[in-house]
Amino acid sequence: SELEVVEQPTPEAPPATHVVTPQPVLAVVGRPNVGKSTLVNRIIGRRQAVVEDIPGVTRDRVAYDANWAGRKFTVVDTGGWEPDAKDRAAAIAAQAEAAIAAADVVLFVVDSSIGATDEDAAAVKMLRRSSKPVLLVANKADNQNMEYEVHALWSLGLGQPWPVSALHGRGSGDLLDAVLAAFPKQAPLEDHVPGPRGPRRVALVGRPNVGKSSLLNRLAREERSVVDSVAGTTVDPVDSLVVIGGETWQFVDTAGLRKRVGKASGTEYFASLRTAAAIETSEVTVVLLDSSEVISEQDQRLLSMVSEAGRGVVLAFNKWDLVDADRRHYLDKEIDRELKRIPWALRVNISALTGRAVEKLAPALRQALVSWEKRIPTGQLNQWLTALVQATPHPVRGGRAPRILFATQPSISPPKFVLFTTQPLDPGYVRFVERKLREEFGFEGSPIDIAVKPRK
Ligand code: GDP
Ligand code: GDP
Repeated sequence: SELEVVEQPTPEAPPATHVVTPQPVLAVVGRPNVGKSTLVNRIIGRRQAVVEDIPGVTRDRVAYDANWAGRKFTVVDTGGWEPDAKDRAAAIAAQAEAAIAAADVVLFVVDSSIGATDEDAAAVKMLRRSSKPVLLVANKADNQNMEYEVHALWSLGLGQPWPVSALHGRGSGDLLDAVLAAFPKQAPLEDHVPGPRGPRRVALVGRPNVGKSSLLNRLAREERSVVDSVAGTTVDPVDSLVVIGGETWQFVDTAGLRKRVGKASGTEYFASLRTAAAIETSEVTVVLLDSSEVISEQDQRLLSMVSEAGRGVVLAFNKWDLVDADRRHYLDKEIDRELKRIPWALRVNISALTGRAVEKLAPALRQALVSWEKRIPTGQLNQWLTALVQATPHPVRGGRAPRILFATQPSISPPKFVLFTTQPLDPGYVRFVERKLREEFGFEGSPIDIAVKPRK
């Protein structure tokens, strides 16, 4: 069958997907030594805090993933106190203020064996001004005999005190039930519901004559297998199932490509809505470039389309058999100059004609998908981020340096991060964070998205 060419204007770039729904945030605030870290460990189901636990040592806020009764949320430990703040009550209030701004629910922890102090009262003033739900935790209520002390905490004016022993676990289940009840009603839908799935979907795109049909035919020939169906899945008739590297891949909307070699094409296939739709349908996109020719404006348009779509990307430099030392020299320069916008894309140099290195496509596709679906646990992310921000703080703006309070990665495919901050961040600093994030955690072959959420 012949390729059905749909001549259509270049589509508008799809809207950037900056809208993410982070899981609800629970902040744990209170004076030093009331048992915040112990409570956080209890909530996340861990015994020992990983962070330094020496009194007087600044411990920065660190956030973790937590799960209670199937509801996932982020819990923020506000253990870090400015050690040489003149007015400790003010420092405590400031600390609590920053944490509650990002939180959906606040746990205010009090040591019920000591009772409410002036510092507690100072923090409560500020807590009450906020519109956030606050639950009062009467910690260190290790046994029934503490009933009187717990009851006395009604005086703080935060409503019912929840008697808890963070150390032994007493009362923590009831407390977490109350936390869940106080979270925003609608549980955010999981972005990615893993389940039985068919072959991974690949879009093979490139301007006319870069060698798309040749590559598809080559792949089919190499493995002697273009399969027609995969058990239990239905595949669109315009797609091709191709085995590469022992794995079946679904090349989307390749109708016509396979049989087209040798025929004059010259059609604006790539510029059509159809290409945009193929990219949208795919999980990973192979952008085919012609190494023997300069990277053109058409190539550039296609690259922006792909990177904005938020898909994994493998750049395949085809016709490598035509590249001599001279061309190679210029090509390297072109790549440096023209591919700046997607430095994270994976690259393979292939020849559909000779079959050179086409076997490298499968590992590149797999790597891009691993990156695309990678999630960094919140605790690990924040420990790394705390060190990064300490080593290289945000430059001072208007007398103050914006601070990152904590970060989470609410979703994958592609990975999306949210930075909770005191103020908006410089775009340059966000790029710096992205670069460092990639250095630390990889993400080769996948775009990542970083949203900044300054406190209101
Ligand atoms: P933070 O400074 O508020 O984070 O407090 P920590 O979690 O570091 O706890 C301070 C001290 O109180 C530690 O020695 C804990 O073992 C102790 N502690 C925490 N929770 C409880 C509790 O429920 N009962 C008792 N008896 N001690 C606790
Ligand atoms: P498409 O329009 O992207 O599907 O490109 P085709 O597969 O039809 O290839 C266009 C032309 O490039 C054909 O003449 C192919 O034989 C040639 N071609 C494709 N791949 C290679 C390659 O790796 N090396 C060389 N030298 N020519 C190639």
